[in-house]
Parts: sequence; C-alpha cells; structure tokens
Amino acid sequence: MKSPQSIINIIFIGVFMTIVGVACKKESQEVPAIYNKIYGATSITNDGSFITIKTKGLPDHKSVYYSSSNALYEAFSGTTYGGNTFAKNPNSISEQSLTFKIPVNPKVASNHASTPGGPIGVSLNGVPFFNQYAAMGATLTNEINGFDQYWGHPQNSGQYHYHVEPLYLTTVKSTKSGLLGFLLDGFPVYGPEEEDGTSVTNSMLDDYHGHTHATVDYPDGIYHYHFTTEAPYLNGNGFYGDAGTVSK
Ligand SMILES: [Zn+2]
Ligand SMILES: [Zn+2]
Repeated sequence: MKSPQSIINIIFIGVFMTIVGVACKKESQEVPAIYNKIYGATSITNDGSFITIKTKGLPDHKSVYYSSSNALYEAFSGTTYGGNTFAKNPNSISEQSLTFKIPVNPKVASNHASTPGGPIGVSLNGVPFFNQYAAMGATLTNEINGFDQYWGHPQNSGQYHYHVEPLYLTTVKSTKSGLLGFLLDGFPVYGPEEEDGTSVTNSMLDDYHGHTHATVDYPDGIYHYHFTTEAPYLNGNGFYGDAGTVSK
C-alpha cells in the first residue's frame, strides 16, 4: 500500500505530464487550409485555440499613397468611391508589424463588443479592415474622397486599411462573392454579392452586418459578414462573436 504522500506525488506527476503534453500538442496544430488564403501573411500558426496571423500591412496593389519612388506608386485617375473629386490625405503608406489572433472555432458572443478604432480584421493580402468610422467616431463622409483607386487609404502613422469593399481583392485576387478575410472574432468576410450573383443589401443582414448560410468554403454553413455599398459597409453594432486580439 502506497503512502498518501506518494499517491499525491503520483497525481502531481500525472497532472504535470498532462500539462506538458497539452502544451506540446498546442505547438503542433495544423493550420486549417482556409487560412492559407491569406496570401499576404508573413506567418500563420495555430495553437489549437487561436490562429496567429502576422502581416506587414502593405497593399500588393498600386496606390497613390506609396511614395513616388515605389514601384507600386500610381497617380490617382478616374472617380472616387463616392463619385466626388479625389482629395489625397497627407499620409503615405509605411510597413507595419501586425499580429492578429483570431479564434480557431468562432463562437457567438453573449455581449457583442463594439469594434475598436484601428484594425478589426485581416484581409487576404494582409491589409487590415477598419470599421465604419473615421478617427474619434466621425462618419467616413470626408475620408471617402481620399480612398485610392482600390478604395483604401493610410492613416496618420502610415497604416493602410480598408473601410469599404477592397476593390483589388474583389476584382483581381478573389471575386465579388468570394472570401476576403476574417474579422477578429474569426468569422469570415465576403464581398458585396452572394454566390448566385445577388447584390447584398443591408436589409439582408443583421445588426452586426452578417448572416448565416452555406458558402463554397463552408458547405455546412457559417455566420459571415458582407461588404455592402452603404454604411456601415462591413460591420454594424459590434462583433458577432467573441473577438480575438490584434497588436501593432
Ligand atoms: Zn480610414
Ligand atoms: Zn451571405
């Protein structure tokens, strides 16, 4: 018969080995294939709870906001997102160091946290999504005139971002109905059309600017956000799910 102390020791060793086992297992999780669509990431890893996506936040398309010595610089031509005269903001694009941690298994939140200023998700090319507000919660009315030819722009520290449909992704790298990225709660973001070509309007979406049905990527159905042409464009009254984190 073992002494109570040795039984405690055995239990302690057992618990310790289990913790070590879980910790080691966490390091070796495979990244689900869907996340490999984020072609602009510098790394993507999975610890079993969160997918960690690192990006430099640099658009892989031309922009009037690259410095004129950059190969991706292109003067603005054509019309703005809102159809007004283009008004360039004083900022220019600079490399970022963004780390997005999003839940592997997104879950609906009991309290729908409002989206913060700054990055609220990551798009396929590694550029962050921003919400429907300019700095200090102002509407985007004035900012829209400064969106470049692919409908993004940099803020004052050079961080380039999309508030509205990322045109390069919906017309070149993906489609109007294709996957465009993920918000921090892990739920996917789609373009302004459904796969049958129907234009998505705000009235088809809930308060958080999404709804649930099957997509090519998720045949069993999933909650997803859509870009629409009217405010709030991408997200409404906060995250549908429990949000992960972003550091910059
Ligand atoms: Zn902005
Ligand atoms: Zn949909």
